[in-house]
Amino acid sequence: MEKREELFSGKAKSVFKTDDPDLFVLQFRDDTSAFDGVKVEKLKDKGKVNNLFNAFIMEKLEQAGIKTHFVKKLSGTESLVKNLDMLPVECVVRNLAAGSICKRYGIEEGLEINPPTFEFFLKNDALHDPMINDYHIVSFGWADPTHIEEMKKQTFKVNEVLKDLFKNGNMLLVDYKLEFGLCNDELLLGDEFSPDGCRIWDAETRNKMDKDRFRQDLGDVIETYKEVGARLGISFD
Ligand code: UDP
Repeated sequence: MEKREELFSGKAKSVFKTDDPDLFVLQFRDDTSAFDGVKVEKLKDKGKVNNLFNAFIMEKLEQAGIKTHFVKKLSGTESLVKNLDMLPVECVVRNLAAGSICKRYGIEEGLEINPPTFEFFLKNDALHDPMINDYHIVSFGWADPTHIEEMKKQTFKVNEVLKDLFKNGNMLLVDYKLEFGLCNDELLLGDEFSPDGCRIWDAETRNKMDKDRFRQDLGDVIETYKEVGARLGISFD
């Protein structure tokens, strides 16, 4: 496999073509952004930490029967993934209240959400990723009904796998965002799973161990990501 030219550069990752049109190289950069790209900083080692973290989680999900685009880790900051036709929606499941749901409904942070909620957002920074529902998705052609149901099913399945994984490391999986894409009409989990796209709290202290450390200027962002990884058994050396 030969890495070729850059196809796309996002806020934290770049996508490169390879000599195989079905495979891309995903490069995790140190760039960190929040508030739809308004707050941007480079955090040393973030690319490497998130690449290794994502590889570990994607492998766990594959082992649990969840189909993903992940093929293999290539280097400290790069992974090989399948070329997906990404659906322009974000899938969010919440176990505890934090972030936008608190502001939107006036809910206190930390309230247990039982049963966990599922929300769709439109992937569009310029519009600040507005919340959408199944009807919008079908009527505007962002995904078809079968894929909508499959995204919900897979996103909840991820919750079952990862809630336990984090619990074993004495952490709470508060919420997370997933993105899916199609590969020959098969729905696969795409993008990444790292502390950039989920909320993780220490189970006892409820100390924030995710990108809220960056959003809220709490400090020690990457040190804390490494601590989350260490509790899961990931080695970053
Ligand atoms: N999230 C994300 N990318 C986005 C929006 C949200 O990864 O563009 C993640 C976020 O890190 C959190 C979950 O999705 O784990 C729910 O985010 P929320 O709706 O609370 O929005 P936020 O408060 O992060 O703006």
